[in-house]
Parts: sequence; C-alpha cells; structure tokens
Amino acid sequence: DALSNKIAAGEVVERPASIVKELIENSIDAESTSIEISLKEAGLTSIRVTDNGKGMSKTDATRAFERHATSKLSNEHDLFRIRTLGFRGEALASIASVSKVELWTSDGEHEGTRVQIDGGAVTKQEHAAFRKGTDMTISQLFYNTPARLKYMKTIQTELGHSIDIVNRLALSHPHIAFKLSHHDQVILQTAGTGDQRRVLSDIYGMAVARKMVPFQGENADYAIDGFITLPEMTRASKNYITLIVNGRWVKSYAVNQAVLDGMHTYLPIGRYPISVINVTADPFLTDVNVHPAKQHIRMSKEGELLNLIKTAVNEAIKKTVI
Ligand code: ADP
Ligand code: MG
Repeated sequence: DALSNKIAAGEVVERPASIVKELIENSIDAESTSIEISLKEAGLTSIRVTDNGKGMSKTDATRAFERHATSKLSNEHDLFRIRTLGFRGEALASIASVSKVELWTSDGEHEGTRVQIDGGAVTKQEHAAFRKGTDMTISQLFYNTPARLKYMKTIQTELGHSIDIVNRLALSHPHIAFKLSHHDQVILQTAGTGDQRRVLSDIYGMAVARKMVPFQGENADYAIDGFITLPEMTRASKNYITLIVNGRWVKSYAVNQAVLDGMHTYLPIGRYPISVINVTADPFLTDVNVHPAKQHIRMSKEGELLNLIKTAVNEAIKKTVI
C-alpha cells in the first residue's frame, strides 16, 4: 500500500544518487549494452535513464511498480545464488511513491507502452511506439515528502554522489557503454569495450590510468585481480577504492583496509590509492541480502580473501617501486 511504499522509500531512496543506482542496475539486469543517464539539477528536478535492454511488455510495465514485483527470482533457492543486481522488487515501488514517473518501454515484439505514475498511482497507461528498451524519467523527487527534500544538500554535493555511483557501475560493467550528462554537459562517457583500464582512464584520466599497476591472485575459494596507483599517484581520500564481487559493486571496510595494508610502507601519510579490486567467488560464499540497498556483502572465509588481496597488492607494488 501507499504508506508502506513510502516507508520503504526512506530505506532505498536516500537521495537522487540512490535512484540513479537503482535505475542503472535495472538497465544492467535487462542486459543493456548502452545506458544513458541525464540529470537536471543533480537529479532533484529530473533523472532520466535510457537503455537498449530487453524492455517490458504492457502488463509488466505497470506491474513493475507494485511492491515485491520482481521478475528476477523464481524461487527461494535463487536467493542464495543471486546473479542479477536487483532481486527484492521494491525499488521502483519506493521510487514511484515519492516522485512522478514517466516510462516508455517495449520488448521489441509488441507495440510499446507509455506509463505515467504520480506519487505511486498510475495516472496513464497507453500504447506508444517505442524501440526495444526502456526510457524512464523520474521527476519532482520528494515532491510529496518535503521534509526529505529539505535534507538535500547543495546541487554540487548531490551531483557528486551520482557521479560516484555511475563511475563505480561503469567500472564494474566495462562491457556496457555509459553516458552521464548533467544538463548539456557530458560528465562521463565509456566505450563499452570490456577493457577495465580504459574505463579507469575515462574516469580518472589517461595519465593516472596508464600508470596503474595490475595485480592478481587466487586460492581455492577466491580469484582476484585489479589495478592500483603507485605511491606518487595517491589521493587524499579513501573514496577511490572500488570493490567488485562477481560483477557487483559492493562496500567493504575490511577489503579497503587490506588494500591499504598491502601498500603500507609505500603509502605516504594521509594518502590513499585509487584501486579497483575484482573478486570472483562461488555465489554460495557471498550474501548480499543484508540491507535493502544491497550495498553490503557478507563473505565466508573473509580472512583468506583479505590475505589474498593484501599479498597481491604488496607484491605488485614491491615489483614496481624499487
Ligand atoms: P528488482 O530489480 O529488485 O526486480 P525493481 O523494483 O527495481 O525490482 O524493478 C521491478 C521490475 O521491473 C524488475 O524485476 C524488472 O522486471 C522490471 N524493470 C525495471 N526496470 C527495467 C528495465 N530498465 N528494463 C526491463 N525491465 C525493467
Ligand atoms: Mg531493481
């Protein structure tokens, strides 16, 4: 119902960047190879995400906004081997309850559909010509929850959060071409070639990316690889370490610490590396269903993984810095 959607919105929709994340993850789950994100006033006025994924049929297009409507889990066992980014079926219901939504979509087989939703209620649904894929615009965010709107910081801060999200999702999906723009300014554009170092270059600049050192390692349970900056190319913030587990960008304080430990004697005081760490593991060893935002992960045999990362980083840096 409307109330529980609004309560859930508080957990999933913290700020415009949370919506940017949920919409992009849906586009990724729909097997898109190209995703465009356009923001107005850092997303507070509007967030538009256009993809070339599998799209939705007319009935799916309105069902998608019902609570717990997910097309991604078919039984409870799936919950333990989640491969899609979404699975709880609550993001769209939550987002729609605090905004105005306009959706254009087509599965490429039937005529397309256009749906309009205001504060969670469907106000229009009609046939509309559209190519295969989905185009969703979220506008007037928090128009019916003014208290939340007041919490929003400056445009620059909110934009920073969205850029951060798109950067990390682009890094974890180098095969997808991303384009992020704010009004008429293009902020990030990736080619979708599958080359992660090239995405690093698109985000942090060629001078940084070409000097990043690759590392890798494996044990019986985990395989890891990634890139890290040399000591002279470190930054003043810890925020440039990106962890990707089975293609999903997640946060782990312990992994960040393992990266820093691996660099330890080479790291100037108060400086932190830019790094991306890709972890491949049996999904049975990981649990992402910890929080609705799906940002945190639990891993079995975490100590082993941390050691593997620390050692791989240390060896790669030691080899390069003489
Ligand atoms: P979840 O991603 O957890 O399944 P959401 O509320 O994010 O839940 O989305 C609900 C459903 O809407 C999805 O399961 C999917 O079937 C459909 N959907 C949402 N966005 C897209 C998209 N861009 N392309 C195709 N289907 C989509
Ligand atoms: Mg989703």
